[in-house]
Amino acid sequence: MSKINLKSAATLREPAELVAHGLASAAALRDLEKVAAHYAVAVTPDIAALVDPNDPDDPIARQFIPSAEELVTQPGENPDPIGDHAHSPVAGIVHRYPDRVLFKLVHVCAVYCRFCFRREMVGPGKATSLPHAAYQAALDYIRAHSEVWEVILTGGDPLMLSPRRLAEIMADLAAIDHVRIIRIHTRVPVADPARISREMVAALRVKGATTWVALHANHVRELTDKARAACADIIDAGIPMVSQSVLLRGVNDNAATLEALMRAFVECRIKPYYLHHGDLAPGTAHLRTTLAHGQELMRALRGRVSGLCQPGYVLDIPGGHGKAPVGPNYLSQANSFSEEREQHAETRYRVVDYCGDVHLYPPKP
Ligand code: SF4
Repeated sequence: MSKINLKSAATLREPAELVAHGLASAAALRDLEKVAAHYAVAVTPDIAALVDPNDPDDPIARQFIPSAEELVTQPGENPDPIGDHAHSPVAGIVHRYPDRVLFKLVHVCAVYCRFCFRREMVGPGKATSLPHAAYQAALDYIRAHSEVWEVILTGGDPLMLSPRRLAEIMADLAAIDHVRIIRIHTRVPVADPARISREMVAALRVKGATTWVALHANHVRELTDKARAACADIIDAGIPMVSQSVLLRGVNDNAATLEALMRAFVECRIKPYYLHHGDLAPGTAHLRTTLAHGQELMRALRGRVSGLCQPGYVLDIPGGHGKAPVGPNYLSQANSFSEEREQHAETRYRVVDYCGDVHLYPPKP
């Protein structure tokens, strides 16, 4: 498991390089070096080209350029915010739900997101990939658990593997009868679209299992022509794609920006899947919103775009208790509202439409 190409010559990995390229201020250098000593930094040329250095609030820069605010850990933040460790029976596997496992193959990414929920586990300073014996043990675990229908390759970013190694892994998984779905979570099509070569697309297809690719992108500007072409290559090969985004303060926490992102996904034939509430990763409070604001945005989105463009707004419950949809809720029991109870004794529910108007829905006769 050593077929990872970390070397993209022009990827910026040092704060001094970010300063030299005008992506960070010289005055911030000392603080950024402290951040980089703890959390990995990588900005690919494709991402660097998207940053507007004249905009102090640039939504691309906020995602990838380190900030002194990361040096502050808030109460409640946790190095393992979604509780992977509590559900890891063998190295590389997280088995939280009966029918699926996470398979964490690599610990490196093309870029390092400043809000990453696995920021304590990913980066070149960490183990780059699962050692051979651990990989075999993880496969043995999946073979022994016939309830595992879906394997989610994550990490790190599995598309940092070479196409040849990825094809071997896909074949190993597809050879397990009960594994029917292999889902790959990646940021590579936006961060380094050139990696989505013909060989990489071929590696994603495997006999014996269905592949899905989940693209992580948070702002419409990430979906450049090159990124869209990379996704089209994947989809044209018969591989369906879904999106996942993180709700981030100063990046996409307004209805117009979310709308543009979700419309762009659908135009690219990528079904919006998840909008994650920011996890309690250390040093990320400046990028989180409140749950109330997230619900307000989801309400606004429902009024602006079709169901095709609606992601599920979800929260990973700290401690490893899994994902919960966090609304908003459009249905409530009418009899909890005394006025309505008096006026419509037989009515059981009230339901809110996309304009915020309330309607009564009768009980089943
Ligand atoms: S690509 Fe995913 S795993 Fe890698 S830094 Fe970003 S959020 Fe973390």
